[in-house]
Amino acid sequence: MTAIGGISVSILAGLTVLILTFLVIRYRTLLGKAEHALGDFSKRQMQAYEMAKHCQKDLRSCVRFMPAKVLIAGRHDRKFIQPSEALINWIETWSGKPETPDTLTSYLFSSDKYPGFFPVLKRRLKDGSIASGVFHDTLKVPFENSACQTEHSVNIRIDVLEGVVCVWFDSTADKQNQQSRERSDASVIRSILNETDLPTALESSSALLRCQLGNGVACSVSLLDGSAKTLKLVWSKGLDSTIRGSVARLPLVFGDSPSATALLTETSVRKAYNSPGVRREVRIMPESIVSWHSYPILSNDGDALGTVDFYLSDGVSAQLSDDAVGNFLFVVAVLLERKVAMSTIFRQARLDQAVKEVGQRLMVATDGASSSTLNECLIFLTTATPLSDGKIGIVYDFGSDEAETVGRLFEHSGDPETDQSAPRLSAVKAICADVIALQDGGMALETVLVESGSSTAAQLISELPICADSASATFFVCPLLLGRGQMGAIIFALPGDQIPDAAYGNIMDMVSPSIASYLSRENLLRELEKRANHDQLTGLLNRGCIEERLSSEIKRSNRYENELSVILFDIDHFKQINDQFGHDVGDEVLKQVARRAEASIRAVDLIGRWGGEEFLVILVETDLASAKHVAENIRRLIESDVYETNKPVTISAGVACYLGGDSSGSLVKRADIALYKAKDQGRNQVVTTT
Ligand code: GH3
Ligand code: MG
Ligand code: MG
Repeated sequence: MTAIGGISVSILAGLTVLILTFLVIRYRTLLGKAEHALGDFSKRQMQAYEMAKHCQKDLRSCVRFMPAKVLIAGRHDRKFIQPSEALINWIETWSGKPETPDTLTSYLFSSDKYPGFFPVLKRRLKDGSIASGVFHDTLKVPFENSACQTEHSVNIRIDVLEGVVCVWFDSTADKQNQQSRERSDASVIRSILNETDLPTALESSSALLRCQLGNGVACSVSLLDGSAKTLKLVWSKGLDSTIRGSVARLPLVFGDSPSATALLTETSVRKAYNSPGVRREVRIMPESIVSWHSYPILSNDGDALGTVDFYLSDGVSAQLSDDAVGNFLFVVAVLLERKVAMSTIFRQARLDQAVKEVGQRLMVATDGASSSTLNECLIFLTTATPLSDGKIGIVYDFGSDEAETVGRLFEHSGDPETDQSAPRLSAVKAICADVIALQDGGMALETVLVESGSSTAAQLISELPICADSASATFFVCPLLLGRGQMGAIIFALPGDQIPDAAYGNIMDMVSPSIASYLSRENLLRELEKRANHDQLTGLLNRGCIEERLSSEIKRSNRYENELSVILFDIDHFKQINDQFGHDVGDEVLKQVARRAEASIRAVDLIGRWGGEEFLVILVETDLASAKHVAENIRRLIESDVYETNKPVTISAGVACYLGGDSSGSLVKRADIALYKAKDQGRNQVVTTT
């Protein structure tokens, strides 16, 4: 057991030594590798350092020989403003990352632009005082896109970091820049807001973009048109006419998706550009445009007003700062909103003016029975308002059975008696009365729409000469309250199936009070005139009026030597009728005699009530013989008529004709003498006198 134990111990010891040896060898190998790697690393580091030193030397020499370019950075963003070529090489070598001037440069700052700065820097570099530290100097720093140069006192810190000369601008200068930019923006905005011409205002506003438009960046503004369906280009800058043409009118697609408009703009431009015969020398090639941005412009109420579109070429996106774009969009929104508000106000003002003018014309009109002013006003309304799209007319009556009309809607080619196309006024009046009738027997107070395709529209179309080839039309019927239950209506017909605008009804509602008051006044005047000139009982001309007419007829006869005769007739024994049947029956007989006599003379002749039961007839261009004939005719007709009294009524008449030098008095006197003679000779007869 011991011997076996001794062998076992020695085998174990041997194994342990073997394992240890293996581990030591393995460790040494790893250590060697690590040392090698470390050595390699330091060697490379040294190489890089050597290279950097080399480059720094290059840069120094570059800086020393001004106007060489140096690395200049803004203090805040630490963006490289102008790296020298040597610096770029150095960075490339040192970091292993290839950098291009594009990625290093946010904007240009070169010796050509700021000639005042570089000589100072050069001097300091030469005299060795800028190894590091801060010094003050005054620089003329122009704003981009602005012709004015503002002087700024700036702190410039020069750091020589491992040999790289860095020039940092003090932030106070940046702040001043910022402030004066804001001041300049504010003054641009103020001047824009005083400009009433939209393209001019947009042109000025584009200064807010702080970006040279036309140089790889283009911008356009489109306004939504009245129909709210089409975007119409109102201004653009930097866009070639070919592109401008293809975005001049685009359907509205933005709404919730502004990118949709950008996509549409892009598609439209590319399509136009690729169409045959298009000039290729456009400033911004569609293929060079890398991004299309469309910003919807919304009103305060959130309504879409239009879009602002940007077209950016490769590598210029950075030129547009968010702040600048934000300012521009804000101003455009204000301008578009003002433009829309102004056109609404102008439209309304024009409309108000038209309505006012109609009101004024109707207020002072004295047309008598002609309604010519009303007709003129309707013509004016259809030229000054959207009513020009259709035909307008007015139907009215003053409580009589006969409807009267005015306006183009009722115009027809032929004689209303014979022409089949003439509107049947009573039918039109009845349809309108139905349209504006309310359940409680009243009238609607505002315009009522009669939709195209409805049975009422069909009825109106069949009664009115709307349009020869129009099978459909929409109507607006506006009630005219003429008082005491009398009805009138303004009718507007819009041919075809157009979707009617509420504006039509509004205009009609606005003018209806003036028209209604004009018609009521006309009615009143007609009534007054009737009362002044007519006899209330018989409706014939009264004594005053028939005397006046006789005088003027005598004057005419005097001037033109026309024949003129008069008949003076008197009811026989009228007192007896009164006495026997009463005054009321007497009145009825008087009316009946008047109607008979009136019906038996010509329209050009005149008849009036001369006294109680005495009448005068004036027969123009009629000699004595003809006048006697007329008088006989009247006498016969009255005698043969049937009266309430069931007894014949007769008249006696005296006829006289005009003689040179006659006055109305002398002429009637002779007729009166003849009348007496007729009474004397037994009544119911005609006596003439020369
Ligand atoms: P003669 O044949 O001579 O003319 O006799 P007469 O009775 O017609 O004549 P007279 O002059 O004596 O009488 C006229 C009457 O007419 C007297 C008057 O009362 C009546 N008269 C006048 N105006 C009216 C009227 O408006 N209505 C009625 N019912 N009667 C009237
Ligand atoms: Mg009598
Ligand atoms: Mg009498």
